[in-house]
Amino acid sequence: MKITIHRGSNEIGGTCIQVTSGTASILLDIGLPLSDNSPFIDVANLKVDAVLVSHPHQDHFGLIDRLSPEIPVYIGELGRNLIETTSVMLNKEWHGNQFRHFKAWVPFRIGTFMVTPYLVDHSAIDAYAFLVEAEGKRIFYSGDIRAHGRKGKLFEHMVKHPIPDIDLLFLEGTMMQRSNDLFSNEKAVERKIYEVIRKQKNISFIISSSQNIDRIVSAFNACRRAGKIMVIDIYTAWVLEQVRQVTENVPGMEWPEVRVYADHGLDKKLKANPEYFGDLRRRLYRHRVKWQELIAAPSAFLYFGRMSSFRKINVFRNDIAPVNIIYSQWLGYLDGNHADYFGSDRIVAFREDPKVNFVYAHTSGHAPVEDLQRLAAALKPKHLIPVHTEKASDYGRFFENVVVLHDGEMMEI
Ligand SMILES: [Zn+2]
Repeated sequence: MKITIHRGSNEIGGTCIQVTSGTASILLDIGLPLSDNSPFIDVANLKVDAVLVSHPHQDHFGLIDRLSPEIPVYIGELGRNLIETTSVMLNKEWHGNQFRHFKAWVPFRIGTFMVTPYLVDHSAIDAYAFLVEAEGKRIFYSGDIRAHGRKGKLFEHMVKHPIPDIDLLFLEGTMMQRSNDLFSNEKAVERKIYEVIRKQKNISFIISSSQNIDRIVSAFNACRRAGKIMVIDIYTAWVLEQVRQVTENVPGMEWPEVRVYADHGLDKKLKANPEYFGDLRRRLYRHRVKWQELIAAPSAFLYFGRMSSFRKINVFRNDIAPVNIIYSQWLGYLDGNHADYFGSDRIVAFREDPKVNFVYAHTSGHAPVEDLQRLAAALKPKHLIPVHTEKASDYGRFFENVVVLHDGEMMEI
Protein backbone atom coordinates (compact mmCIF):
# COMPACT_ATOMS: atom_id res chain seq x y z
CA MET A 1 0.00 0.00 0.00
CA LYS A 2 1.12 3.52 -0.74
CA ILE A 3 0.23 6.34 1.59
CA THR A 4 0.45 10.10 1.26
CA ILE A 5 -0.62 12.72 3.76
CA HIS A 6 -1.78 15.53 1.51
CA ARG A 7 -2.38 17.71 4.53
CA GLY A 8 -2.40 17.30 8.30
CA SER A 9 1.08 15.97 8.99
CA ASN A 10 1.95 19.04 11.04
CA GLU A 11 -1.26 20.94 11.62
CA ILE A 12 -4.53 20.53 13.46
CA GLY A 13 -7.42 20.29 11.01
CA GLY A 14 -7.64 20.07 7.25
CA THR A 15 -6.68 16.40 7.40
CA CYS A 16 -6.49 14.55 4.08
CA ILE A 17 -4.69 11.20 3.74
CA GLN A 18 -4.59 9.07 0.59
CA VAL A 19 -4.17 5.30 0.67
CA THR A 20 -3.58 3.43 -2.59
CA SER A 21 -3.48 -0.29 -3.32
CA GLY A 22 -2.95 -1.28 -6.94
CA THR A 23 -5.41 0.76 -8.94
CA ALA A 24 -7.74 1.44 -5.99
CA SER A 25 -7.36 4.59 -3.94
CA ILE A 26 -9.24 6.14 -1.03
CA LEU A 27 -9.03 9.28 1.08
CA LEU A 28 -9.19 9.28 4.86
CA ASP A 29 -10.97 12.57 5.61
CA ILE A 30 -11.07 15.65 3.44
CA GLY A 31 -11.01 18.51 5.89
CA LEU A 32 -11.22 22.25 5.65
CA PRO A 33 -8.09 23.71 7.28
CA LEU A 34 -8.52 25.66 10.52
CA SER A 35 -5.58 27.92 9.76
CA ASP A 36 -5.30 30.52 7.00
CA ASN A 37 -1.64 29.59 6.49
CA SER A 38 -2.46 26.02 5.63
CA PRO A 39 -1.13 24.68 2.32
CA PHE A 40 -3.59 24.45 -0.57
CA ILE A 41 -4.44 21.01 -1.91
CA ASP A 42 -6.20 20.49 -5.20
CA VAL A 43 -8.82 18.06 -3.97
CA ALA A 44 -10.82 18.13 -7.21
CA ASN A 45 -7.90 16.59 -9.10
CA LEU A 46 -7.15 13.73 -6.72
CA LYS A 47 -7.86 10.41 -8.41
CA VAL A 48 -9.73 8.46 -5.76
CA ASP A 49 -12.51 5.87 -5.68
CA ALA A 50 -14.03 6.93 -2.38
CA VAL A 51 -13.68 9.15 0.66
CA LEU A 52 -14.07 8.03 4.25
CA VAL A 53 -15.18 10.77 6.64
CA SER A 54 -14.33 10.03 10.27
CA HIS A 55 -16.78 12.48 11.85
CA PRO A 56 -18.94 15.55 11.15
CA HIS A 57 -16.41 18.28 12.02
CA GLN A 58 -15.53 20.79 9.28
CA ASP A 59 -11.81 20.17 9.61
CA HIS A 60 -12.45 16.55 8.56
CA PHE A 61 -15.22 16.78 5.95
CA GLY A 62 -15.26 20.47 4.90
CA LEU A 63 -13.97 19.97 1.34
CA ILE A 64 -16.42 17.30 0.18
CA ASP A 65 -18.10 19.90 -2.04
CA ARG A 66 -14.91 20.21 -4.10
CA LEU A 67 -15.01 16.52 -4.99
CA SER A 68 -16.47 15.27 -8.19
CA PRO A 69 -20.06 14.32 -7.18
CA GLU A 70 -19.75 10.73 -8.44
CA ILE A 71 -17.07 9.89 -5.86
CA PRO A 72 -18.90 8.23 -2.97
CA VAL A 73 -18.48 9.67 0.52
CA TYR A 74 -18.69 7.09 3.31
CA ILE A 75 -19.87 8.46 6.65
CA GLY A 76 -22.06 7.45 9.60
CA GLU A 77 -25.73 8.23 8.93
CA LEU A 78 -26.12 10.50 11.95
CA GLY A 79 -22.94 12.35 11.03
CA ARG A 80 -24.28 12.99 7.56
CA ASN A 81 -27.61 14.20 8.98
CA LEU A 82 -25.78 16.66 11.22
CA ILE A 83 -23.76 17.98 8.28
CA GLU A 84 -27.01 18.59 6.41
CA THR A 85 -28.54 20.28 9.44
CA THR A 86 -25.72 22.81 9.42
CA SER A 87 -26.12 23.44 5.67
CA VAL A 88 -29.82 24.17 6.06
CA MET A 89 -29.39 26.34 9.15
CA LEU A 90 -26.58 28.36 7.60
CA ASN A 91 -28.32 28.68 4.22
CA LYS A 92 -25.53 26.84 2.45
CA GLU A 93 -25.82 24.84 -0.73
CA TRP A 94 -27.06 21.31 -0.22
CA HIS A 95 -24.10 18.92 -0.53
CA GLY A 96 -24.28 17.25 -3.94
CA ASN A 97 -22.25 14.21 -2.88
CA GLN A 98 -23.21 10.61 -3.15
CA PHE A 99 -23.26 9.58 0.52
CA ARG A 100 -22.98 5.98 1.64
CA HIS A 101 -23.47 4.95 5.23
CA PHE A 102 -21.61 2.39 7.24
CA LYS A 103 -22.36 0.87 10.62
CA ALA A 104 -19.99 0.74 13.57
CA TRP A 105 -17.79 -2.37 13.59
CA VAL A 106 -19.32 -3.74 10.36
CA PRO A 107 -16.60 -4.23 7.73
CA PHE A 108 -17.30 -3.14 4.16
CA ARG A 109 -15.41 -3.32 0.91
CA ILE A 110 -14.21 -0.54 -1.38
CA GLY A 111 -12.47 -2.20 -4.32
CA THR A 112 -9.51 -4.11 -2.88
CA PHE A 113 -9.83 -2.40 0.50
CA MET A 114 -11.62 -3.84 3.49
CA VAL A 115 -12.66 -1.07 5.87
CA THR A 116 -13.92 -1.46 9.44
CA PRO A 117 -15.25 1.64 11.24
CA TYR A 118 -14.69 1.75 15.01
CA LEU A 119 -17.02 4.04 16.93
CA VAL A 120 -14.91 6.31 19.16
CA ASP A 121 -15.29 8.90 21.91
CA HIS A 122 -14.90 12.47 20.63
CA SER A 123 -16.64 15.83 21.02
CA ALA A 124 -18.46 15.14 17.75
CA ILE A 125 -21.07 12.42 17.95
CA ASP A 126 -20.94 9.56 15.42
CA ALA A 127 -17.13 9.69 15.25
CA TYR A 128 -15.06 6.78 13.95
CA ALA A 129 -11.56 5.44 13.65
CA PHE A 130 -10.92 3.24 10.61
CA LEU A 131 -9.12 -0.04 10.10
CA VAL A 132 -8.09 -0.24 6.44
CA GLU A 133 -6.84 -3.58 5.09
CA ALA A 134 -5.35 -4.49 1.73
CA GLU A 135 -2.45 -6.61 0.42
CA GLY A 136 -2.26 -8.35 3.80
CA LYS A 137 -1.38 -5.05 5.54
CA ARG A 138 -3.39 -3.23 8.18
CA ILE A 139 -3.62 0.53 8.68
CA PHE A 140 -5.42 2.07 11.63
CA TYR A 141 -6.47 5.73 11.46
CA SER A 142 -7.46 7.15 14.86
CA GLY A 143 -9.56 10.06 13.53
CA ASP A 144 -10.15 12.40 16.48
CA ILE A 145 -10.24 10.39 19.67
CA ARG A 146 -10.33 10.63 23.46
CA ALA A 147 -11.02 8.54 26.54
CA HIS A 148 -12.56 11.10 28.87
CA GLY A 149 -15.99 11.81 27.33
CA ARG A 150 -19.27 9.99 27.78
CA LYS A 151 -18.18 7.21 25.42
CA GLY A 152 -14.80 6.71 27.11
CA LYS A 153 -15.54 2.99 27.50
CA LEU A 154 -14.99 2.57 23.76
CA PHE A 155 -11.41 3.78 24.18
CA GLU A 156 -10.80 1.51 27.17
CA HIS A 157 -12.18 -1.43 25.22
CA MET A 158 -9.77 -0.70 22.39
CA VAL A 159 -6.87 -0.63 24.87
CA LYS A 160 -7.94 -3.85 26.60
CA HIS A 161 -8.76 -5.72 23.41
CA PRO A 162 -6.40 -4.17 20.87
CA ILE A 163 -6.75 -4.82 17.17
CA PRO A 164 -3.81 -7.11 16.34
CA ASP A 165 -1.12 -6.83 13.66
CA ILE A 166 -1.30 -3.12 12.93
CA ASP A 167 1.37 -2.22 10.38
CA LEU A 168 0.73 1.49 10.48
CA LEU A 169 -1.06 3.76 12.93
CA PHE A 170 -2.04 7.32 12.01
CA LEU A 171 -2.39 8.88 15.46
CA GLU A 172 -3.91 12.30 16.11
CA GLY A 173 -2.02 14.52 18.55
CA THR A 174 -4.08 17.67 19.05
CA MET A 175 -3.22 17.68 22.75
CA MET A 176 0.53 17.21 22.36
CA GLN A 177 0.93 20.89 23.22
CA ARG A 178 -2.18 21.40 25.32
CA SER A 179 -3.06 20.19 28.78
CA ASN A 180 -6.27 18.83 30.19
CA ASP A 181 -5.57 19.73 33.81
CA LEU A 182 -8.52 21.91 34.77
CA PHE A 183 -11.33 19.56 33.79
CA SER A 184 -10.09 16.04 33.26
CA ASN A 185 -13.38 14.66 32.00
CA GLU A 186 -16.98 15.43 31.06
CA LYS A 187 -18.26 14.59 34.55
CA ALA A 188 -16.05 17.32 36.02
CA VAL A 189 -17.55 19.80 33.56
CA GLU A 190 -21.05 18.73 34.55
CA ARG A 191 -20.19 19.26 38.24
CA LYS A 192 -18.89 22.76 37.53
CA ILE A 193 -22.06 23.74 35.62
CA TYR A 194 -24.13 22.44 38.51
CA GLU A 195 -22.12 24.47 41.04
CA VAL A 196 -22.64 27.65 39.02
CA ILE A 197 -26.37 27.33 38.43
CA ARG A 198 -27.38 25.74 41.75
CA LYS A 199 -27.86 28.99 43.66
CA GLN A 200 -27.97 31.44 40.80
CA LYS A 201 -29.78 34.75 41.28
CA ASN A 202 -29.83 35.52 37.56
CA ILE A 203 -29.92 33.48 34.37
CA SER A 204 -26.88 31.47 33.21
CA PHE A 205 -25.74 31.21 29.62
CA ILE A 206 -23.55 28.34 28.54
CA ILE A 207 -21.45 29.11 25.46
CA SER A 208 -20.76 25.92 23.58
CA SER A 209 -21.50 24.03 20.38
CA SER A 210 -24.93 22.61 19.59
CA GLN A 211 -23.20 19.61 18.05
CA ASN A 212 -21.26 18.79 21.23
CA ILE A 213 -23.87 16.33 22.45
CA ASP A 214 -21.85 15.31 25.51
CA ARG A 215 -21.92 18.94 26.61
CA ILE A 216 -25.67 19.29 26.08
CA VAL A 217 -26.13 16.21 28.26
CA SER A 218 -23.85 17.71 30.93
CA ALA A 219 -25.83 20.97 30.91
CA PHE A 220 -29.08 19.05 31.05
CA ASN A 221 -27.96 16.80 33.93
CA ALA A 222 -26.78 19.86 35.87
CA CYS A 223 -30.16 21.54 35.29
CA ARG A 224 -32.12 18.50 36.38
CA ARG A 225 -30.08 18.22 39.57
CA ALA A 226 -30.35 21.94 40.32
CA GLY A 227 -34.06 22.14 39.48
CA LYS A 228 -33.51 24.48 36.54
CA ILE A 229 -34.93 24.56 33.04
CA MET A 230 -32.56 24.21 30.08
CA VAL A 231 -33.43 26.55 27.23
CA ILE A 232 -32.29 25.56 23.75
CA ASP A 233 -32.73 27.25 20.40
CA ILE A 234 -34.33 25.78 17.28
CA TYR A 235 -31.00 24.65 15.87
CA THR A 236 -30.12 22.71 19.03
CA ALA A 237 -33.65 21.28 19.18
CA TRP A 238 -33.27 19.93 15.64
CA VAL A 239 -29.82 18.49 16.34
CA LEU A 240 -31.25 16.64 19.33
CA GLU A 241 -34.10 15.33 17.16
CA GLN A 242 -31.48 13.79 14.84
CA VAL A 243 -29.51 12.25 17.67
CA ARG A 244 -32.64 10.87 19.32
CA GLN A 245 -33.33 8.79 16.22
CA VAL A 246 -30.23 6.81 17.24
CA THR A 247 -30.32 7.00 21.03
CA GLU A 248 -32.99 8.11 23.48
CA ASN A 249 -30.37 8.81 26.14
CA VAL A 250 -30.07 12.45 25.13
CA PRO A 251 -32.63 15.07 26.15
CA GLY A 252 -35.25 16.19 23.66
CA MET A 253 -37.37 19.33 23.48
CA GLU A 254 -40.39 17.37 24.73
CA TRP A 255 -38.74 16.63 28.06
CA PRO A 256 -40.26 18.62 30.93
CA GLU A 257 -36.96 20.27 31.94
CA VAL A 258 -36.32 21.54 28.40
CA ARG A 259 -37.84 24.53 26.62
CA VAL A 260 -37.17 26.03 23.21
CA TYR A 261 -36.59 29.70 22.57
CA ALA A 262 -37.67 30.38 18.98
CA ASP A 263 -35.52 33.12 17.46
CA HIS A 264 -37.16 34.79 14.52
CA GLY A 265 -34.31 34.00 12.11
CA LEU A 266 -34.25 30.27 12.84
CA ASP A 267 -38.04 30.11 12.83
CA LYS A 268 -37.95 31.52 9.31
CA LYS A 269 -35.72 28.58 8.31
CA LEU A 270 -38.35 26.16 9.58
CA LYS A 271 -41.03 27.94 7.58
CA ALA A 272 -38.86 28.00 4.47
CA ASN A 273 -38.01 24.25 4.59
CA PRO A 274 -41.21 22.43 5.57
CA GLU A 275 -40.27 19.27 3.69
CA TYR A 276 -36.96 18.98 5.48
CA PHE A 277 -38.18 19.78 8.99
CA GLY A 278 -41.51 17.90 8.79
CA ASP A 279 -43.78 18.70 11.73
CA LEU A 280 -40.98 20.15 13.90
CA ARG A 281 -42.42 23.67 13.86
CA ARG A 282 -45.84 22.52 15.05
CA ARG A 283 -44.45 20.28 17.80
CA LEU A 284 -41.93 22.87 18.88
CA TYR A 285 -44.63 25.43 19.45
CA ARG A 286 -45.91 23.54 22.49
CA HIS A 287 -42.48 23.59 24.17
CA ARG A 288 -41.58 27.20 23.60
CA VAL A 289 -40.46 29.60 26.25
CA LYS A 290 -41.24 33.25 25.66
CA TRP A 291 -38.75 36.05 26.23
CA GLN A 292 -41.02 37.57 28.90
CA GLU A 293 -40.83 34.31 30.86
CA LEU A 294 -37.03 34.49 30.89
CA ILE A 295 -37.17 38.11 32.03
CA ALA A 296 -39.75 37.38 34.73
CA ALA A 297 -37.80 34.56 36.43
CA PRO A 298 -34.25 34.51 35.06
CA SER A 299 -32.81 32.38 37.87
CA ALA A 300 -34.98 29.47 36.75
CA PHE A 301 -33.08 29.01 33.48
CA LEU A 302 -29.84 27.89 31.87
CA TYR A 303 -29.66 29.05 28.26
CA PHE A 304 -27.61 26.79 25.98
CA GLY A 305 -26.17 29.33 23.55
CA ARG A 306 -23.21 30.28 21.39
CA MET A 307 -20.84 33.22 21.03
CA SER A 308 -23.59 34.94 19.05
CA SER A 309 -25.81 34.95 22.15
CA PHE A 310 -24.11 38.15 23.35
CA ARG A 311 -27.14 40.34 22.64
CA LYS A 312 -29.36 38.18 24.84
CA ILE A 313 -26.69 38.12 27.54
CA ASN A 314 -26.54 41.91 27.46
CA VAL A 315 -30.17 42.20 28.51
CA PHE A 316 -29.48 40.34 31.76
CA ARG A 317 -26.30 42.17 32.82
CA ASN A 318 -26.69 43.94 36.16
CA ASP A 319 -24.68 44.91 39.26
CA ILE A 320 -26.76 43.19 41.91
CA ALA A 321 -26.86 39.72 40.41
CA PRO A 322 -24.30 39.35 37.63
CA VAL A 323 -25.34 37.13 34.73
CA ASN A 324 -23.39 33.87 34.58
CA ILE A 325 -21.53 33.06 31.39
CA ILE A 326 -20.28 29.49 31.46
CA TYR A 327 -17.72 29.39 28.68
CA SER A 328 -17.70 25.78 27.57
CA GLN A 329 -15.51 25.40 24.52
CA TRP A 330 -11.85 25.84 23.59
CA LEU A 331 -10.33 28.95 25.25
CA GLY A 332 -8.21 29.55 22.15
CA TYR A 333 -11.27 31.07 20.45
CA LEU A 334 -10.95 33.99 22.86
CA ASP A 335 -7.33 34.84 22.00
CA GLY A 336 -8.31 37.79 19.77
CA ASN A 337 -7.43 36.02 16.50
CA HIS A 338 -10.91 34.70 15.77
CA ALA A 339 -12.68 37.75 14.37
CA ASP A 340 -14.47 35.39 11.95
CA TYR A 341 -16.17 33.77 14.94
CA PHE A 342 -19.22 36.02 15.25
CA GLY A 343 -19.58 37.42 18.75
CA SER A 344 -16.19 36.26 20.05
CA ASP A 345 -15.00 39.86 20.62
CA ARG A 346 -18.09 40.55 22.72
CA ILE A 347 -17.61 37.39 24.77
CA VAL A 348 -13.98 38.40 25.36
CA ALA A 349 -15.17 41.79 26.66
CA PHE A 350 -17.53 40.07 29.12
CA ARG A 351 -14.54 38.49 30.88
CA GLU A 352 -13.68 41.85 32.47
CA ASP A 353 -17.27 42.98 32.98
CA PRO A 354 -18.37 43.37 36.65
CA LYS A 355 -21.96 42.74 35.57
CA VAL A 356 -20.95 39.29 34.38
CA ASN A 357 -19.71 36.26 36.28
CA PHE A 358 -17.49 34.57 33.71
CA VAL A 359 -16.79 30.89 34.39
CA TYR A 360 -14.80 28.39 32.36
CA ALA A 361 -16.01 24.77 32.18
CA HIS A 362 -14.70 22.66 29.33
CA THR A 363 -12.85 19.48 28.56
CA SER A 364 -11.21 18.73 25.25
CA GLY A 365 -12.51 16.55 22.45
CA HIS A 366 -9.03 15.04 22.20
CA ALA A 367 -7.00 12.64 24.29
CA PRO A 368 -4.06 13.94 26.33
CA VAL A 369 -0.69 12.39 25.64
CA GLU A 370 -0.94 9.76 28.42
CA ASP A 371 -4.08 8.29 26.87
CA LEU A 372 -2.57 8.32 23.39
CA GLN A 373 0.43 6.47 24.82
CA ARG A 374 -1.85 3.79 26.27
CA LEU A 375 -3.52 3.34 22.91
CA ALA A 376 -0.24 3.17 20.99
CA ALA A 377 1.23 0.71 23.51
CA ALA A 378 -1.80 -1.55 23.07
CA LEU A 379 -1.89 -1.42 19.27
CA LYS A 380 1.90 -1.88 18.93
CA PRO A 381 2.05 -0.55 15.36
CA LYS A 382 5.12 -1.26 13.24
CA HIS A 383 5.01 2.39 12.18
CA LEU A 384 3.33 5.26 13.99
CA ILE A 385 2.74 8.39 11.92
CA PRO A 386 1.68 11.71 13.51
CA VAL A 387 -1.38 13.49 12.09
CA HIS A 388 -3.70 16.28 13.28
CA THR A 389 -0.98 17.79 15.45
CA GLU A 390 1.35 20.75 15.55
CA LYS A 391 3.98 18.75 17.40
CA ALA A 392 4.86 15.90 15.03
CA SER A 393 8.52 16.37 15.95
CA ASP A 394 7.73 15.59 19.64
CA TYR A 395 6.16 12.19 18.94
CA GLY A 396 9.53 10.44 19.10
CA ARG A 397 9.79 11.34 22.81
CA PHE A 398 6.45 9.74 23.66
CA PHE A 399 5.93 6.85 21.24
CA GLU A 400 7.85 4.00 19.63
CA ASN A 401 8.37 3.33 15.91
CA VAL A 402 7.54 6.92 14.96
CA VAL A 403 7.90 7.90 11.33
CA VAL A 404 7.35 11.59 10.62
CA LEU A 405 5.84 11.88 7.17
CA HIS A 406 5.58 15.38 5.72
CA ASP A 407 2.69 16.71 3.64
CA GLY A 408 2.94 15.36 0.10
CA GLU A 409 5.60 12.71 0.88
CA MET A 410 4.82 9.15 -0.20
CA MET A 411 5.52 6.06 1.87
CA GLU A 412 5.08 2.42 0.97
CA ILE A 413 4.27 -0.35 3.44
ZN1 LIG B 1 -13.09 16.59 15.49
